[in-house]
Amino acid sequence: MPEFIPPAKPIIGAEERAAVDRVMQTGMIAQGPEVAKFEEEFAAALVDGRESVAVNSGTSGLHLGLLAAGIGPGDEVIVPAFTFAATGNSVALTGATPVFVDIELDTYCVDPAAVEAAITPRTKAIMPVHLYGHAANMTAIQAIADKHGLMVFEDAAQAHAATWQGQPVGTFGTFAMFSLYPTKNMTSGEGGMVSVADSEVARRLRLLRNQGMEVQYQNELVGFNNRMTDIHAAIGRVQLTKVAGWTKQRQENAAVLTAGLQGVTTPVVVEGCAHVYHQYTVRLPEALAPKRAELLARLKDEFGVGTGVYYPVPTNELPSFNVAVDLPNTKLAAASVFSLPVHPSLTASDLDRIIAAVNTVVEEA
Ligand SMILES: *Cc1c(COP(=O)(O)O)cnc(C)c1O
Repeated sequence: MPEFIPPAKPIIGAEERAAVDRVMQTGMIAQGPEVAKFEEEFAAALVDGRESVAVNSGTSGLHLGLLAAGIGPGDEVIVPAFTFAATGNSVALTGATPVFVDIELDTYCVDPAAVEAAITPRTKAIMPVHLYGHAANMTAIQAIADKHGLMVFEDAAQAHAATWQGQPVGTFGTFAMFSLYPTKNMTSGEGGMVSVADSEVARRLRLLRNQGMEVQYQNELVGFNNRMTDIHAAIGRVQLTKVAGWTKQRQENAAVLTAGLQGVTTPVVVEGCAHVYHQYTVRLPEALAPKRAELLARLKDEFGVGTGVYYPVPTNELPSFNVAVDLPNTKLAAASVFSLPVHPSLTASDLDRIIAAVNTVVEEA
């Protein structure tokens, strides 16, 4: 049995451990100077200097971003159905209604035509997801938002350093959220970073993450404790210095996979965009979709190739939402996609093994 190639592999090195130790030795481990530095460095490195606010998870980032932008009961926010549950959850947690729409089958990102068709008098915002590390069509989404007077929020959880027509994700909407969960393209352990267009929204975000308080015991609004710790920020600061190199490695790995794979639909990169391959996701031909579980079991058991399915159930079909709406591309993608290892730790021989294994099991299916 060949050595197992995991579908994801967070890289935690000596520098991250030393950074944690450095903070521990100060005895001040909650939100403090490390978080402030991480926010500034993240802003400079990834979002053209846009003000950035660190929180304790990506989900908190979406939730507080929505609240800071004024989203609440009675409002509708248009989201793709094909994404991680946190996208829709964060909208629902504000008391607003997530309106689930279909995706485009090439990029797996929200379909602008479906967005426009879903607009009602209650629609306040559109929240595209830059799924797998490829940007949603921000030109079309911004045009629709401008035409209808809507805000745009970006779920950039999976897309650190991705670009749409040369412009970094996280610089388009009222706010954008980047997740720092261990399997994402960079991590702080747990964490999220919110880049914000407007200083008043940023101020409300900072209040909401800290009990509504800027001046101690003069709470201005009802808030949460969603602060990032200095320990987590110290890890994130180290990772931030490495994410560009890791991204390049992911892109090189993806190019090797795309050149070698047969019998599956490989990822599309829209002209002028940079895909950062949080996931390298392929699609089986429709006739083979019912055999997906069997094929992935073969990849794991016979070839030692780990895979993942992101996401097998559209958010609207989850028991937590259970909204009946006909979304054919979402349904097809949910039934037929799977993701292969693309992480920066892969060797050339790992990539060869992955390609040979996939080509074999698909051909024999
Ligand atoms: C990971 C992820 C989130 C949530 O981020 P956490 O840091 O895990 O809370 C939200 N949306 C998408 C698309 C994600 O992949």
